[in-house]
Amino acid sequence: MNGCTRRAFGGLASAMCLACVPTRAAERRSAPRVVVIGGGAGGATVARYLAMAGKALNVTLIEPKRRYTTCFFSNLYLAGLRSFDSLTHGYEALTERYSIRVIHDRAAAIEPEAKTVRLTSGTTLPYDRLVVAPGIAFRDGAIAGYDEAATEFMPHAWIAGPQTILLRRQLEAMPDGGLFVIAAPADPFRCPPGPYERASLVAAYFKQQKPRSKILILDAKDTFFEQDLFQDAWDRHYPGMIEWLPAQFIGAIDAVEVKDRSIRTAGQVFKADVANIIPPQMAASLAQQAGLADRTGWCPVDPVTFESTLHRDVHLVGDAIIPGAMPKSAFAANSQAKACAFAIAAALTSEDDPRPFLFNTCFTFLAPDDAVSDAISFGITGGKIAITEIMISKLDESAAIRAQAVREANGWYEAFTRDIFG
Ligand SMILES: Cc1cc2nc3c(=O)[nH]c(=O)nc-3n(C[C@H](O)[C@H](O)[C@H](O)COP(=O)(O)OP(=O)(O)OC[C@H]3O[C@@H](n4cnc5c(N)ncnc54)[C@H](O)[C@@H]3O)c2cc1C
Repeated sequence: MNGCTRRAFGGLASAMCLACVPTRAAERRSAPRVVVIGGGAGGATVARYLAMAGKALNVTLIEPKRRYTTCFFSNLYLAGLRSFDSLTHGYEALTERYSIRVIHDRAAAIEPEAKTVRLTSGTTLPYDRLVVAPGIAFRDGAIAGYDEAATEFMPHAWIAGPQTILLRRQLEAMPDGGLFVIAAPADPFRCPPGPYERASLVAAYFKQQKPRSKILILDAKDTFFEQDLFQDAWDRHYPGMIEWLPAQFIGAIDAVEVKDRSIRTAGQVFKADVANIIPPQMAASLAQQAGLADRTGWCPVDPVTFESTLHRDVHLVGDAIIPGAMPKSAFAANSQAKACAFAIAAALTSEDDPRPFLFNTCFTFLAPDDAVSDAISFGITGGKIAITEIMISKLDESAAIRAQAVREANGWYEAFTRDIFG
């Protein structure tokens, strides 16, 4: 390996360490094998940072999709502020620049005793270490009537792709004066500010195109992340357009009826023109089948190495894990992925013990020209990931500061997706 220091590998912004790309095929054939399942924010980052590790590792990434669509910034697409194409990313750079073997297939089963992964195509892949980053699934039966068929009428748009396009089409087709209902889930779920950012940006679209329309958020919680910032923005930008009903007023979201797009809570029925149902969540099905999730439905991990506490030599990162105080965000998945890659490389190459540096930054849009951000550092306390420092935008910031955050957010998206996909 040619001159890649561990400091460069472990650093947050070490994305451009091209000199570290392994080149010799023979060296790679005898190298330890790491298989990564899931080519999203977590898995693609692990694969890329492993391929840049100090000694050649044989890295294989399993991902069924040829093009990955980011959930992050998909609310901008829903509001007509970004193209769908700008959210999609391929895996070519991971193959061509980092010599990662990318297999477009689905992992059907993990055999931890045999240390193999079986793919849907029938191929079996042996591994020395396995990383599982499959994202989320929705809890079957949690909302009566909300099954796979119902998602075609009342989209979740919480796993980006065709669902996101469907929701945008429904919003475009909705008449002026219509009601858009968002059903927001209880914690923990993917992207805590996401439902409220979605309400804000769809309101910006309505304000321009369908100003008599309303948005109703039916929440399974009584509070939500950055609530004061959102409610302040709703009063300033969209007075009277967004109504938020917490769990203490409506009770649980019990059932949906697709034929009239209605949503039933403990005591009421709400009829929508467009309904966005974001169901309760858990780790994706592969993690459940492989016995990597506990009774919470999420996967317990060691907070330093991200190794499963249930199966040896299997690591997990991203939304599927129990992350302590970290949110289920792409930035958190990317930060965990680097710590995990660092730990695996150290274990397989007998280098120093890893020292994880965990961080989350999130930009949230309140309006097309008004964004806020949070930046949180994490450390390990009592064996769990805990917050060490936190910075969140304030209520009384000037319009210029908020407009600057919009520019920073757009720059962040470009740099961040390059860090993941090369
Ligand atoms: C509307 C919205 C807005 C968001 N905004 C932000 C934001 O601004 N900032 C931010 O940081 N985060 C944001 N997020 C959250 C972010 O998208 C997720 O936290 C992130 O994608 C999690 O990464 P992951 O790798 O765990 O899962 P994913 O990105 O979902 O990747 C999982 C991958 O695993 C693959 N997979 C699943 N099962 C298998 C299998 N059996 N075999 C092989 N592959 C499999 C899937 O195809 C998928 O590509 C947002 C989310 C939403 C819904």
